[in-house]
Parts: sequence; C-alpha cells; structure tokens
Amino acid sequence: MSASIEVKLPDGSARSLPEGATGADLAADIGPGLAAAALALRMGEQELDLSIPLTDGAQVAIVTSTSDEGLELMRHSTAHVMAQAVMDLFGKEQVRLGIGPTIKNGFYYDFDFDDDRRLREEDLAAIEQRMAEIIAADQPFVREQVDPAAALAHWESRGDRYKCDLIRGIPAGEVVSFYHNRLPGTGDDAFVDLCRGPHVPSTGSLAGVHFKLLSIAGAYWQGDEHNPMMQRVYAACFATKKQLKRHLNNLELALKRDHRKLGKQLRLFHFSDDVGPGLPLWLPRGTIVLDALTDYLKAEQVKRGYLPVSTPHIGRKSLYETSGHWQNYHDSMFPLMGDADSHDAFCLKPMNCPHHIQIYKAELRSYRDLPLRLAEFGTVYRWEKSGELGGLKRVRGFTVDDAHLFVTPDQLFEEFCGVVDLVRQALGLFGLTVQARVGTRGDAGEGTGKFVGEAPLWQRAEAEIIEACQRMDLPHTIEEGEAAFYGPKLDFVITDALDREWQLGTAQVDYNLPERFDLLYAAKDGTRQRPIMIHRAPFGSLERLMGVLIEHFGGAFPLWMAPVQVALAPISDDQVPGTRELAARLRARGLRVHEDLANEPIGPKIKRARLEKTPYVGILGAREIRDSTVSVRSRDAGDLGVMPIEAFLDRLEAELSERTRATT
Ligand SMILES: [Zn+2]
Ligand SMILES: [Zn+2]
Repeated sequence: MSASIEVKLPDGSARSLPEGATGADLAADIGPGLAAAALALRMGEQELDLSIPLTDGAQVAIVTSTSDEGLELMRHSTAHVMAQAVMDLFGKEQVRLGIGPTIKNGFYYDFDFDDDRRLREEDLAAIEQRMAEIIAADQPFVREQVDPAAALAHWESRGDRYKCDLIRGIPAGEVVSFYHNRLPGTGDDAFVDLCRGPHVPSTGSLAGVHFKLLSIAGAYWQGDEHNPMMQRVYAACFATKKQLKRHLNNLELALKRDHRKLGKQLRLFHFSDDVGPGLPLWLPRGTIVLDALTDYLKAEQVKRGYLPVSTPHIGRKSLYETSGHWQNYHDSMFPLMGDADSHDAFCLKPMNCPHHIQIYKAELRSYRDLPLRLAEFGTVYRWEKSGELGGLKRVRGFTVDDAHLFVTPDQLFEEFCGVVDLVRQALGLFGLTVQARVGTRGDAGEGTGKFVGEAPLWQRAEAEIIEACQRMDLPHTIEEGEAAFYGPKLDFVITDALDREWQLGTAQVDYNLPERFDLLYAAKDGTRQRPIMIHRAPFGSLERLMGVLIEHFGGAFPLWMAPVQVALAPISDDQVPGTRELAARLRARGLRVHEDLANEPIGPKIKRARLEKTPYVGILGAREIRDSTVSVRSRDAGDLGVMPIEAFLDRLEAELSERTRATT
C-alpha cells in the first residue's frame, strides 16, 4: 500500500491523497468542476502553482478565477502572454523586457526595442490578436528554479540589461525562477520570463479572461530619469465581459467628465497665467458650490463642539523651525520672504498647525478646556513643481477644512472615533464609499531620521488609530512606512462613480508638535501635563475635493450644491414680469435662481440649462401665469409637467431636506 498524505480544506474537512499528489490532483479529486476552474494552489500562507506537490498536514485551498486572488493571477499571466505577443510580432531579438506587474484593473509591461521601434496605438489590435492565438495554443507555464549566476548569464546572452538589473536586486539566498511557455507538441520554449510566480497552469486557462490593451506611455526604467525610457503598454483585464465593459465605459466617461473641461463649461473656476500656475480663481458659480460644502461642514462642526478660528497666511520662519516644517518640509514651501537670517523672515504657511498651536498657547489651559477643537478653513501654499500641476487636483494654493484637537491621553481614543465618524458622514454625503489607509512608521522607520519622535509614542498612536477604525467599522489597510514625519496617519480614500480611488481627507495623531512647542495644561491633580494633538481634515483640500466631485457627478451636482438650482424661462416677453415675480418668490425661500430672459425661443433656453446641468427648469407661458402654475423639467427625472407653484416649492424643499436628513 502506497503512502498517503492528508491536507485540510477551507471548510475544515480533511482529505487524504497519495503521497506526491499536487494541487491539480487535489482539485480533480474534489470534482471535475473545480479541476477545470483551478488556477493555483494556496498552501498555508503561500500561493503556488497547481503542479506543486502537497505537504502532509498543510492547510490548502484551490484558487479559482472567482476570487480576487485568482483575478490577480490571471492578470499576471496575461501580462506574460502580452510580452510573448510583442516578441512574436516585433522579433524576439529586438525586444528587451522590463517589468510587467498587475495594477488596479489590469496590468502593464515595459518594453525596449533595439531597433528604436515606437509602438503605435494601431499596433495594439495586432498584439491583442496575437495574444488570443497564444491563449488558444494552450501553452503550459513551466516553472524552473535557476541558479542566480545561470539566470544572469541567460539574460546577459539576450542583451537584456533590465532583467539583469532585476536579478542583481534579488537578495542572496532567495530563490530565482523562470517561467517558460512551452509549445505543445514540440515542448520548445515559446517564451521565458524571470518570475517569482505562481502562474495559471497554461495559457488555455486564460480563455475566459477579458482584456483590452489601452494605451502606450513612456516610462523610465525603475522610475529614474537617468535611465533609458521604455515603452509601457497598459491593459485592462477582468474575469467577466461585463466588468471589462464597465471599466472601459468608465474610462470613456472620465474623459468626458474631465473637471478642467467641465470647470470651463460650467464656469466654476479659472486659471490665469498672470496670477500663476496652480493658483485657481473661483468664479461665482464655483464659489457657490464651495460655500455649500463649507456651510455644511461649519454647521456640523458647531454640533460637534468645534470652535472657529481665523489666522493669517504667513508666519515667521522661526515658527516653522520650532514646528520642524522648515527642516523637514522646506522643499515644499514657497521661497522665503525677507532676509533668511533676520527675525523678520516670513514663510507662506504650508500648514495651519503652528498658527493654531499659538492660539492654544495664548491662554493657560486646564483639563477643563480639553478637548479643545479649533477649526479653520485655512488656505495653505505648497511649492509644487509646475510640471506636476494638473487642474484642481494638484495646486499651489488651496484651502484645507482644517482642525486641530488638543486632547488629554484619556480623550484621545473617543476624539479620534468622533473624527472618523465626521469624516465618514462628510464624504458619505456625496454617495462616495470611504475606506482608510493607516500610515505607520514600520520597522524601516527606525533610525532613518525620516520620522521624529519616540518609538513608544508612535506605537501607542498607531494602536489607537487602528482600534478606532475597528470600532467605527471602517474598512482599512495598514501601510508601513507611510506615516507623516511627525506621527502616524489615517488617510481617507474614496471610490468615485467611475470606480476610481482618490485620497481626500486625513486624520493624524501627533505627540510631536505638543512637545516641540512645549504645550501644557493644568491637570486635575495640579500638575502640568502635555496634551496630544489630532490634525484632521475631512475633505482635505477643498480644491482637490472639487476636482473629484465635478468628475464624480459629471458636473450634475445634487440640488443642495448646485450653483443654480432653478432656471426660469418665459415663453415670450409677455411673461417677463411674472417670471421675475416667481424668481423673487423662490429667492425669498433661499433658492438660487437664474432668470433666462433672453428674447429667443424656449428650446435654446432649455438646452442651455441642460448644458449647465441646472437641476430644474421652470417654464412660464400665458396659461401658467394665469393659473399660478409652472411647467417643470427636472434634470434627473425629465418632464414633470405643469404644477402649482406651491407644489413646485414643496418638491424643491423636500429634495433639499434629504441632504439634512442624511446628516442627522
Ligand atoms: Zn510571472
Ligand atoms: Zn495640522
């Protein structure tokens, strides 16, 4: 009787297999359906090829395309197929390979051509066609563990400096492996890549994958501008046709909804080269939208016990030396005003914190004053490189919905939870889903000089942030080494209507600035104690938020944010006085109204309101004036027909109160 092994399955059951059985054997043993769907094996913490023999007693699972893990695997394997297709089409000897990682929604691969070939958009269809042939050919992916010196020799002989760089970067003692795509029949290599794996069993396993090559972009090798520029081919890749279609549709919408284009069309903001790049000018309509956002948040902050403050746009250089910004953040600050060595050297403020700290210090504080929550819509300035400026999403001057909470150690956790609650409510207002990224110092931070402050304080703050996320049921990931220089942070990442992620608000625990500024409060027992600071901004930069929201809504803001809520249009000049009268009546109820009194037919007026994404158009003809009614067209619900003016008002007010309801 041959020896057997036993493995544990995800459902808790155990299964016996002959010794030497592989992941593929396990899948076949469970059933033909799973055998067909199996892509890889998870054994313990490791993801492995299906051909790997199982270890006795191991916890195992079969990976299929329906899991995120399986999708990643399919994307990664499809990237190999794309590289093979490029080599097949343009000559194996001509093509050098960089890296081909998976990314959100797909993958890319970097290529360099010896013959200076420039890939063109027209080439993408041919590459896709060749990829389909490779998938149809059902070439097995075969793993080969390679001696590092032999691996280097292989890629040197191919003249591929990029793969050689990668091999040299692999730490000594780590396994180096190749993946071969073998031609069925002859077993000859069709393609070989340096790769850690794992892979799907064969290119045929990718028959169900849906991909589309999207674009070609230049990319410096290893992101270094001193290195050669490679050509990067981007691809979208999904497990279902529906998902791919949705993604492609989103990409198309993103172009249409570009906030720079819509900002002009809707007359929201303007950039003037005479003012300077990255310094947006808010036009009346944009300012109204901004005000709607700040009015909401101001009211909410009053409910939550915040106190408003207002501070100047500049401060002495010495203030930023005390805060540490000058030493750590200097490159992102505007050039100094005044003689650098004099006491009268001033900085444009890159952050509001030092100013708020001075307000804290203006009085002797006792434990009874805490938590003290100081809030300001404070404008700050950052010296971004001009090449990095793009519309509203990266600017040089922007307003932060900033607040600094000064708290005792006992209050920290509750206050942090309160911040998480507010941020989630504020971002939820727009129908955005919110997730968090916790940036910690990580092991790498020790002794690098990249972070200031004591390790025990950091650890404590990190633990409190993570605990707050857990208690508030906020999905979060932990990113080591991504903290701010003065403390761990929580970045809020939203997903917009086009499935894109944006980092907006942030909340940070800070043990460091209170130390640097020697902040104190009188404790209950009469001793002097140090408060802890929380920096928080639910929206982050209002400019960036606006850029994101314009695209999220495609310019069609909800009623409470819309710069013009109702456009009123008379059918003829006879109804101009009646139109003015109705406009006054709506304005008296706090509504934002535009009277389109141009002497032209009603059609162009309705079209104009549609282009401006006005939520409601009220049309007034002779009959409407006589009957005190209005003919209403809704941007979102279409033609609502003729209704009494009171009914129209009720409808508007009901819609506006939906926002209020969502936040109480
Ligand atoms: Zn690979
Ligand atoms: Zn701050």
